Amino acid sequence: VRIRDILSGKGFDVVVIKPESSVDELLRLLRDHNLGSVVVSRDGRVIDGIVTERDVVRRLADGTDFLERPVAEIMTTHVRTCTFADSVDSLMHTMTNERIRHVPVVDKDGLLIGLVSIGDIVKSHVTDIEFALDQLEGYVRS
Ligand code: AMP
Repeated sequence: VRIRDILSGKGFDVVVIKPESSVDELLRLLRDHNLGSVVVSRDGRVIDGIVTERDVVRRLADGTDFLERPVAEIMTTHVRTCTFADSVDSLMHTMTNERIRHVPVVDKDGLLIGLVSIGDIVKSHVTDIEFALDQLEGYVRS
C-alpha cells in the first residue's frame, strides 16, 4: 500500500498557518479542525515548518507568554516529508524511529499536496492485516 492510496481515501486538504500568525491562532485551528498538527506555509504550497500540539504543550511548562508570539518561533523547520510513491510500511517505520506523528506529502518540486498522520497509517495498516487474515482463514477452510 502506498501513500497515494491513503490520500485518495481521506483527501488532500491540509490546514496551514502563516509563520507570522500567533500561537493563539494555531490553538484555535487545532481545536476548530480537530487536528494534532498544522503545516506552516506563507502560500499554502512551500513548507516553512510544522507545528504540533506537542510543541505547544512542552513550552507551557515555562509559562504562557509565548501564546502571543509568532508560530515561527516554536515550529520545527527541518520537516520530514514523503511522496505519493512511498510505502505505508516505510512511513510507519519513519514515524516510529523519528517519534513524529505527522508527515506532509510533497510533489516532485517539494510543494505541499497532503498530510498523513499516524492515525491514517494505523487505519490503513489494520485494514491490511484484516484483509490478509480473511484470506488466510478462507485458505485454511477450503
Ligand atoms: P508529533 O509527534 O507529530 O506531535 O511531533 C513531535 C515533534 O516532532 C514536534 O516537535 C514536531 O514539531 C516535530 N514534527 C512533527 N512532524 C514532523 C515532521 N514531519 N518533520 C519534522 N518534525 C516533525
